[in-house]
Amino acid sequence: MTPEPSWELRAQTASPEDTRDLAARLATAARRGDVIVLQGALGAGKTTFAQGFARGLGVTGPVTSPTFTLVRQYPCALGQLVHVDVYRLDHLAEVADLGLADLVEDGVALVEWGDVARPALGTVTLTVSITGAPGGGDTERVLAVSGTDEARRSAVAASLGAA
Ligand code: ADP
Ligand code: MG
Repeated sequence: MTPEPSWELRAQTASPEDTRDLAARLATAARRGDVIVLQGALGAGKTTFAQGFARGLGVTGPVTSPTFTLVRQYPCALGQLVHVDVYRLDHLAEVADLGLADLVEDGVALVEWGDVARPALGTVTLTVSITGAPGGGDTERVLAVSGTDEARRSAVAASLGAA
């Protein structure tokens, strides 16, 4: 079980590329073994975030939505980047069957729609929640990053501040 988040940091983006850039910076705060949950409605920008995050970890090839394959893996600076979309999984047991805990031993996992799957994910290091900006246009997004560990809060704050 993951404790309730004890901190949250927010940032706003104005375009998909802006979200990728922010995610790439945030990737500098990631550590091997991290499970990062991406939450937000369909079209919020979770896969867009994953693309930038992957770039930040040195993945050079294209990162596409794992909606139909469930899991994609990319070699990256921290080992394997495991990108998961659990949108189509009906049962938590199916999420558990993915064996994420083993996969993430050698890298970092990004789990789209992970809020639903949370009970099957073990310890979640960071949660990134993506929503539209109140009063913002179609391309404005608010990204709220939350976690429990204070040391990580500092690392995330530093990564986001390095704009
Ligand atoms: P999800 O994985 O959450 O369903 P995607 O990342 O696949 O969402 O799609 C997000 C869509 O929103 C893309 O078409 C993207 O170009 C668009 N978009 C517009 N503005 C932004 C923004 N600021 N950040 C991320 N995506 C944005
Ligand atoms: Mg997606």
